[in-house]
Amino acid sequence: MVNFVGAGPGAPDLITVRGQKLLSEADVIIYAGSLVNPQLLSYAKEGCSIYNSARMTLEEVLEVIYAAEEKGLMTVRLHTGDPSLYGAIREQMDALDEKGIPYTDCPGVSSFCGAAAALNLEYTLPDVSQSVIITRMAGRTPVPEKEEIASLASHQATMVVFLSTGMLEKLSERLIAGGYTADTPAAIVYKATWEDEKTFVCTVGTLAETARENNITKTALMIIGDVVSHSHYNRSELYNPAFTTEFREAKK
Ligand code: SAH
Repeated sequence: MVNFVGAGPGAPDLITVRGQKLLSEADVIIYAGSLVNPQLLSYAKEGCSIYNSARMTLEEVLEVIYAAEEKGLMTVRLHTGDPSLYGAIREQMDALDEKGIPYTDCPGVSSFCGAAAALNLEYTLPDVSQSVIITRMAGRTPVPEKEEIASLASHQATMVVFLSTGMLEKLSERLIAGGYTADTPAAIVYKATWEDEKTFVCTVGTLAETARENNITKTALMIIGDVVSHSHYNRSELYNPAFTTEFREAKK
């Protein structure tokens, strides 16, 4: 049995209760060492075999899983944040399907949620944006042309950009090409929920400069949109006294 587990964004107490339980029951843990907080490994039971997948290929990860399966052992594959985002889990699941090895997927708190919390931010403010676009700049992994930053930026929705800290000049340029102004509010959140978390509120035009001045080169998310400044928005209808909902009558 293999359990894919979301480790959460960094703070060891932001793994789910279920994820922590699975970690404590695992015979084998393969963790994404580049971003998973090693403190989470203290939940492992004695004698658990622990592997850091940062130094392994997909084939090597699968070898460890297959060997554990042969011995009837339980493996936790620990991914940063939530496994469904940039987690490369599909290729592992497909290989397990091929061998008939069963698995589950335990969700985690994604870093984009950790980053919002770090800024006390609501991504979906009424009359500002009701959508969150999660994307990245093309790097070694290409991005389909239809999802190019400028075309996504044309929606003027809240955007959260992963995996792009080294490309901020280009990111600004593409955001502006898509219709954001240079003075649109933006933020950089470095290591959200870790002890050394840092947040910087800036603008679309000053993303690269802000990162440079603060030596931020990786493990950061960029958040774009007027929700960052929350200078204007309408209050919710859900809590509006004049509004009847399924659970509450409007007040006269
Ligand atoms: N599955 C993960 C994302 C993995 S991709 C999730 O749900 O969060 C790795 C990228 O995620 C990093 O390059 C960075 O952009 C972002 N990231 C991961 N943890 C982060 C954190 N604590 N703070 C800011 N960004 C983080």
